[in-house]
Order: sequence, then structure tokens, then C-alpha cells
Amino acid sequence: MLLKIDFRSGDAFRGPGSSLLGAHPFAPAGSRDTGCSRRSRPVTPINFKSYHFFIKTLSTAPLIFCLCPSLFYVIILNKIHLSATNANGAKNMIQYKNGQITVFESQLYKTTSTVIQTEDCIIVVDPCILPFEVDEIREYVMRIRGSRQIYLILTHSDWDHIVGAGAFPEATVIASANFQKKNPEEMIEQVKAFDDEYYIDRKTPLIYPNVDMIVEKDGQPLKIGNTVLTFYEAKGHTDDGIFAIVEPLGIWIAGDYLSDIEFPFIYSGSKDYVETLEKTETILANHQINILIPGHGHAAFSKEEILKRKNESLLYIISLKKAIRSKKEHAHLIAQYPYQRSLIKCHEENVQFLMKEMEGES
Ligand SMILES: [Zn+2]
Repeated sequence: MLLKIDFRSGDAFRGPGSSLLGAHPFAPAGSRDTGCSRRSRPVTPINFKSYHFFIKTLSTAPLIFCLCPSLFYVIILNKIHLSATNANGAKNMIQYKNGQITVFESQLYKTTSTVIQTEDCIIVVDPCILPFEVDEIREYVMRIRGSRQIYLILTHSDWDHIVGAGAFPEATVIASANFQKKNPEEMIEQVKAFDDEYYIDRKTPLIYPNVDMIVEKDGQPLKIGNTVLTFYEAKGHTDDGIFAIVEPLGIWIAGDYLSDIEFPFIYSGSKDYVETLEKTETILANHQINILIPGHGHAAFSKEEILKRKNESLLYIISLKKAIRSKKEHAHLIAQYPYQRSLIKCHEENVQFLMKEMEGES
């Protein structure tokens, strides 16, 4: 029997028991094993022993024109293989990468995990979701770490964002005060239910981490050498969300807000959600933002794109409340978003939530 989750908290809706089974990412074309083929493999170095033997053998051939095409073939093959794997050996998951930032993207819900390296520290955000994906992120972090301290930022407590926290036991954990107040067993139960539904085994322990550095107020700073982190409360999706700004790199970690593929999922309050969106201009005015990374979807690289996402989210909330109040049709409000078969359910959840909220207001 499927364990139904109805915690009404964030992405739990999209977890076990939801109708996402039809879009099961592990089993395209009737195969259960395709997930393994996506596993990261380290760069395979050229096998110099056999390479040397190959050259030696060919060099004894009487015709030199036999040698040239064969060598050319071997070199090209190796070049193709190396170019399929980036300089750090990580592949498959990377949505965006520059010298300091690597944005990993899960196969599920386009959930992002970000790794930032500065001269002072390594910052890991929401490592997720599938075991081999968490492994890949962990391996990558360990490869680049050196002697730097790891800081693990958890943007909020939804299962898809905390699932990989156990892979970084050495990290200093940063999250909000409300994150700290959650019932750990209840939060971990969401992950376990998801894993049971898809028969997922994990090597890394499932933990609801203890928060080492609690974000308690808007604009709270944290200085690590020359790296400056500024945190903002981000409520509305859940009541324990945070934004993190990383300077001087100009990175805005947005959690489950300002996505290009999801409209607002309102699980803690529409007023809070609007207040969170209204922080956009202040953040853009106070910080030089070069990249915004949402919890799901694609990074944004311009002020215009960030403001566009903010306005679309705001318009969705205002229009939906208006439509509910006047009992008008509202399905068209999500017409521009992909994955409609799943997202329509999130939209319907929003409608139910807002109706209750509006009843309470009147
Ligand atoms: Zn999420």
C-alpha cells in the first residue's frame, strides 16, 4: 500500500503518493536500470601500456600510411571521451558552471544543488536528490575542497532539499530558526516515504541536520574571510525559507522562489509569499547580483529576468485570489508553465489553500 503524505508542507505534495508515478524517471522504455547508466564515471585515463604496445605493433607495419589513420583514430576516440567529461570529472548533472559556481540539476523536478568555491570556503546548497546524484556532488566537493571549511546551506525543510544533508557530516549547517524548530522525525519520514515508494537505498544516512548557524533576521550577515554571506527570510512557500546572497560573487540562492518553470507553490501563506517576492527590488538594489539560482529550474543572469520572474509570480497570486473571490475560471493562469499534468495538482492545492486562507480573513 502506498503511504500517502499529506503534510501540506512544501514539496511533500509532490512526493510519495502523488501521481508522479506516471512520470517515473527511473523507468523509461520499461527499464528499471536506466538510472544506473547516468552514474558519474571518473575520467578514464589513456591506458599507456596498451597504447604503447599498439604503437609498437603498428610501427612494425611496412606501410606508413597504415600507421597514420590508426593513430589518428585512437587519438580522436580519446579526445571524444575526454570532452564528454569536464575538467573536474563531473558530468551529467551540471546545469551551469564557471570558475566559482557549479549548479547541479537533479533528474527529479529540475531541483538544483549549488556548489560555490571561494578562497575562504566551500558552500554547498541543498545537495539532492537521488543517491548517485548526491554521491556525484559529494565527490565533486571533496575533489575541489583542499583544506577549506564546508558550509551547508539548507534553503528550507522540504524533503527534496534536505535529502542529501547526511552526505556532508563535516559541514557547518546554515538554515533558518523555523527550520531548526521542525520535528526531525516528521521531516525524515517524508524522505523515507519517497525512498520506499521507489525502492531507493541510500548509503549516506538520512538525517535532519542540527543547525550550527541560525538565520534569525533579514539581512543577517556572515563573514568568512573575504566571502560575505547575507541572509533574508523567505516565507510563503514554507515558513522556514531563506535567501542567501554570496558576495563578492553576486550569487543569489533563491530556494523555492523565482523559478522559471514553477508558479508559486503556497504552503505557508500568500501574504508572506508576496512579502518575500517584494524583497526582490531591495536585494537587487543592495547587492550586485550576477546570477540567481532557484531551487527548481534554471539560473537567471540578468536583473530583467529576475524581475520578470518576480512579476509573474506576483501576478499569479493576485490573479488567483481575484478569480477565487469572483468564482471565475483560473486554469489559464498556469498555461505558460511546463509539466502541466503534474503542476495542475499543485495549482489545485493552491486554490484549496487560498480558499481556506480567504475564509479566515473574512
Ligand atoms: Zn523544492
